[in-house]
Amino acid sequence: MKQVTLQNLKDMAKKSYYDLWGAAKSLNRDVKIYLHWTAGRYDQLFSDYHILITGNGSVYVSTDNLNELKKATYMRNTGSIAIALCCGYDAENESHLGNYPPTQIQLVAMAQVICVLADALDLTIDLNRVMTHAEAAKNKDGLATHDDYGPYSGDPDTRWDLWVVKEGEAPWSGGDYLRGAANWWRGQRLLRG
Ligand SMILES: [Zn+2]
Repeated sequence: MKQVTLQNLKDMAKKSYYDLWGAAKSLNRDVKIYLHWTAGRYDQLFSDYHILITGNGSVYVSTDNLNELKKATYMRNTGSIAIALCCGYDAENESHLGNYPPTQIQLVAMAQVICVLADALDLTIDLNRVMTHAEAAKNKDGLATHDDYGPYSGDPDTRWDLWVVKEGEAPWSGGDYLRGAANWWRGQRLLRG
């Protein structure tokens, strides 16, 4: 694991631009950014994701190659980048996020990372290109990539990463919150001078 700056990430994304787009287009998709939580503690890093954000907002990468195939988002990993917040340990449901809920500084960092990657990769920041794992599990982008294993699916392996980002908020609000915050940073021309 290596700690990186937003500028480092932007450079990495530019370096992987054609590899990521080639992989995504081989499946007739645009490049996707998936947003996860690790279901671990604030300082636990896992190599299942390209990019990790710890509880204090520090950003790490598990690879030098953002096109490396990870096993983060079932049936959706080709041509995608997985970002994870290090949090969510013992989270039970949208009303009980446990002792390691996303921190405010983590959420800001994730929004900035999304913005910088989307800029480097020419991506619109919308539901079709930037999804929480909860939304991806539910095929919210309309791609029937796999059976529904999202919230309410009853799947024993249900994934609901970032369904909400704060305890007690409305179901499905997490993705909109993060995309909205990322688009706000885009409006600030983050790293674009
Ligand atoms: Zn996940």
